[in-house]
Amino acid sequence: MGTMEAELKNWLKKRPYLGEIAGLHRIITATVEQSAVSATGNADPGEERTVKELEKGIPFLRAAQTDGGAVESAAGLFKEIIDALAAASLTEKIDDYARLMQRAFEKEPALPEQIIAEVLEKNSVEGSKAALEGIDEGFVIFAAWRALARALQPLQERVAELLEKHLWRRGYCPVCGHLPAVGHLLHTEKGQGRERDLVCGCCQMKWRYKRIGCPYCGNSTQKQLKIIGLDDEPDLRIDTCDQCKSYLKTYTGEGNERIALADWSTLHLDLIARKQGFKRAGYQMYGV
Ligand SMILES: [Zn+2]
Ligand SMILES: [Zn+2]
Repeated sequence: MGTMEAELKNWLKKRPYLGEIAGLHRIITATVEQSAVSATGNADPGEERTVKELEKGIPFLRAAQTDGGAVESAAGLFKEIIDALAAASLTEKIDDYARLMQRAFEKEPALPEQIIAEVLEKNSVEGSKAALEGIDEGFVIFAAWRALARALQPLQERVAELLEKHLWRRGYCPVCGHLPAVGHLLHTEKGQGRERDLVCGCCQMKWRYKRIGCPYCGNSTQKQLKIIGLDDEPDLRIDTCDQCKSYLKTYTGEGNERIALADWSTLHLDLIARKQGFKRAGYQMYGV
């Protein structure tokens, strides 16, 4: 596997229309990767209890108390992301949002943590509305989730280990409870055909799901599940469901996961699916 930068260049060469959104993600990824803020996911209600909750279908962060350590780390990262975006001169709009947020954070030092906690709990920034005047809510939620995705990584790894023994056959995220944005059809090591992973549209957790069937409504009637193929992109497709009218963007290749499963990188698939009358289930992240 090459460097992320090389993979990204390659991806954009074929899809130049993603250049602007890629610039935003490039800066956020670099900020998060270079950050000194440590990821400390430490909500541990005990393995036995966690397993019981997971078996009942309760996502980890709904079963446990909101993790103070992860919220604090995410708030630190969130501020770093906003600072990096304010310094980057990407687009006028993003510049404006980032600078307004910097000012809001200066005025209210507890604001980043308050936003992170609210996004984690309700996927909303309603409670901080007054402090965020003039800033697109979706932009704030998006930046908050990028920080959270990194801060929750230790927790995601732990949940992934538990899921090896206690399969999570649900269509929503075992960590945060949100819906998947992208699927990945992959070959298993055992050579037993293909399996499917889903990727959370919010915290980016990945989990195994049944290979055939709509994760949004559970429908597995084959004739209601259709695939929209893309002539010039053999590694990508759109899985649709006639019952709930939702679609799942799916990567069928291997080796390009970091970009192909990132949601923003397949923005053009969202447009195609919508044009054909399907709706995006789950949260629509900023820019996608
Ligand atoms: Zn999640
Ligand atoms: Zn469905």
